[in-house]
Amino acid sequence: MNPWTGREYAIVKEYAHLGRHALAAALGRSPASVAVFASRHGISLRVDGSKKGKRMRKGLDPREKKAVEANRLCPECARRPVEDRKSGLCHPCYQTRLADAHRDFLEREEAEKNLQSARQEKHRARS
Ligand SMILES: [Zn+2]
Repeated sequence: MNPWTGREYAIVKEYAHLGRHALAAALGRSPASVAVFASRHGISLRVDGSKKGKRMRKGLDPREKKAVEANRLCPECARRPVEDRKSGLCHPCYQTRLADAHRDFLEREEAEKNLQSARQEKHRARS
C-alpha cells in the first residue's frame, strides 16, 4: 500500500465534491481507499447532485482531469501553490528550507572549529 502524499491529500480535499470514484480514477487508487482516507481526515466525499450515495459519474471529465494535473501545489506543505520555480516550493517552505541550510552550514563550521581547536590542544599537550 502506497502511503498518501500531501499532494494527494490536497487533491482529495479540493476535489472532494467529485466523489470517491472520480478521485480514485484521478489518483490511481481504489474508491474504497479514497473513502477510508477521506473519512480518516474528516473530508466529506458527497458528489454534487448525487442521491443517497448513488454515483452519478464514473470518472473525471477531461476538463476536471486537467485541473487536477494543473493543480501544482508545493510538495512540502501541499497547502500553497508552487511560488519559487527553482526549488518547486511555496515561499514559506522555500525560506524554511533556506534557513535550515544556513543553520546546517553554521553547525558544520562550528564542528570544524571544534575539531581544529581539539587538534591544537593535543599538539600543545605533546610539545
Ligand atoms: Zn509549501
